[in-house]
Amino acid sequence: MASFDPDRIRTAERVVVFSGAGVSKESGLDTFRGAGGLWERMRPEELATPQAFRRDPGKVWRWYGWRWDTAAKAEPNPAHLALVEWESLFPELLVITQNVDGLHRRAGTRSLLEVHGTLLRARCERCGRTRDMGEALAESREEPPACSCGGRFRPAVVWFGENLDEAVLSRAYEEAASCELFVSVGTSSTVYPAAGLIEVAHRAGACFIEVNPEPTPFSDLADLRLAAPAGEAIPKLTEEIRRWRQPS
Ligand SMILES: [Zn+2]
Repeated sequence: MASFDPDRIRTAERVVVFSGAGVSKESGLDTFRGAGGLWERMRPEELATPQAFRRDPGKVWRWYGWRWDTAAKAEPNPAHLALVEWESLFPELLVITQNVDGLHRRAGTRSLLEVHGTLLRARCERCGRTRDMGEALAESREEPPACSCGGRFRPAVVWFGENLDEAVLSRAYEEAASCELFVSVGTSSTVYPAAGLIEVAHRAGACFIEVNPEPTPFSDLADLRLAAPAGEAIPKLTEEIRRWRQPS
């Protein structure tokens, strides 16, 4: 961190953190696969699609029941927890996450945009009404429960082959374009919309910090690159930020 000019962090008012699977990994959650279980060998591409849900709604529902259990058992890790503190370190902070496990929310982050939706909610495929996923699962573990409109509930996540919510996405782009500091954490940044958000922030002149063990296609753009797991790097960075932002 020696060559990095902390002035850009010292003066940043609007900050965007973009998080990916790497952040949840240290809570024992690999994007789709948990530790053990019947579903371990299933390919997400075969279950997390509208086609799979049409073909065999019960199977997809049971898989999401298992994923919900796995996420409910996982605990936020030091990266999630440190990021909660950022809300008091910067005037405006938004966490944009690709993760659907709800761990940022459970850790206490309030300003959150879940671009791939959330496992913690179910949504009626017909009328769009949402409800708590745990309650929907308590109603039925075998088949997706029916909504009062006659439609079926499904997990409120974005499946392969589906579009991201337009309002959520445009808010993400607006925030990326107007922040002074953009921090990507635990994402390979190869998947849409990660790449687009980094480009937009960089073009708008934001300071860019990348936290990821492996290099990404955007590493060369980074003003500061921390090649470490999020659970190590984010608490350390938080200490630095606390120091940099202290009035001198
Ligand atoms: Zn409905």
